[in-house]
Amino acid sequence: MAQTKRTIYVDNAATTAMCDDAIAAMTPYLKEVYGNPSSLHTAGQVAKEALERARAAIAAHLNADAGEIYFTSGGSEADNQALRSAAVNGLKRGKKHIITTAFEHHAVLHTLKKLEREGFDVTYLDVHENGIVTPEQVANAIRPDSALVTIMFANNEIGTIQPIAEIGAICREKKVVFHTDAVQAVGHVPIDVKAMNIDMLSMSAHKFHGAKGVGALYVRRGVPLNTFIDGGAQEKGRRAGTENLAGIAAFAAALDYACKNMESNAKRLSALRDRIIKGLSAIPHSKLNGDATTRLPSILNMCFEGIEGESLLLLLDDKGICASSGSACTSGSLDPSHVLLALGLPHEVAHGSLRISLSEDNTDEDADYIIAAVKEVVKYLREMSPVWEALEKGEKPHLL
Ligand SMILES: *Cc1c(COP(=O)(O)O)cnc(C)c1O
Repeated sequence: MAQTKRTIYVDNAATTAMCDDAIAAMTPYLKEVYGNPSSLHTAGQVAKEALERARAAIAAHLNADAGEIYFTSGGSEADNQALRSAAVNGLKRGKKHIITTAFEHHAVLHTLKKLEREGFDVTYLDVHENGIVTPEQVANAIRPDSALVTIMFANNEIGTIQPIAEIGAICREKKVVFHTDAVQAVGHVPIDVKAMNIDMLSMSAHKFHGAKGVGALYVRRGVPLNTFIDGGAQEKGRRAGTENLAGIAAFAAALDYACKNMESNAKRLSALRDRIIKGLSAIPHSKLNGDATTRLPSILNMCFEGIEGESLLLLLDDKGICASSGSACTSGSLDPSHVLLALGLPHEVAHGSLRISLSEDNTDEDADYIIAAVKEVVKYLREMSPVWEALEKGEKPHLL
């Protein structure tokens, strides 16, 4: 399809464009340094050194040790490996209880559903209307047979940040393995796995301007990690397969770049985010989803009563705006987002959601264009909506 005259990409929680540093870091490994890191000859050893340099650089940004980083094909694989490993190792000690929240990413939720079918008992903590789970909820849910707590660092649909350090402290005290899906947080907010008492942490390079198809799992030394893909001895035997060295080099460079610019980006993006929230809040019967301040600088999510999120997205796309109704994984299905339902929003309202996720490429001008476009499209959709007509006539009560 031909590109429209103007494209404003605000779906950076789904994926990002690679940054120049990441592309530059990747390029040599596509053609010049193409050895297999497992080969004993010079070409292989040069590749091996590059692999270990990238691992050390990534570890340093999390205050982890290089030996605690295991590369994967992305965030989904890291989540799958972490959860399966912690569950199976818990079971060896007679523990079959897992604690999570109702608004995790599907990579976590679907893995847990399978584990339930295999006999594990999963507690899904309610998230409050503000999209934040409390440390007390976690403490109260822990049982003597709890094997694992898995709670995401920042939510991918609404952007709220969880009290990870407090939850980590509780889990460490109760000796329960603590995993966090930090795919939306890494490169966006500061993370210190030691200070936060994190045992396992998932990350994915394409959410911070690295390449798609590469991620990693941090596993604290002493926490057992089972093999996820059988074959060669790569990743200390935990994940076989020739390493995606170009992607891994780009991963390290993208994380360097993201961390170097984290403070200035956070400042600029939160101002941009709040400008859009303010502008869109002027739309009657609208609502910001999730806490207004304890959130990623880059993500906002709003509901507009009386419209369908899908129609909103299509009309915004016509205006050159690439946004989302929530998770990329659920678009195409007509069910409202499980995240918005977990916040307690009624189905009718959860249907009319819009997620805008910014990157450093977005400008004030983009923000103002988005505000004007959303206002116009919401007005247009409401004018032809029978649901809206019923609301306006007072036949049904407004929910927002
Ligand atoms: C994108 C995302 C994932 C999946 O990562 P992939 O690298 O695309 O597999 C997992 N969890 C969260 C919170 C995400 O945003």
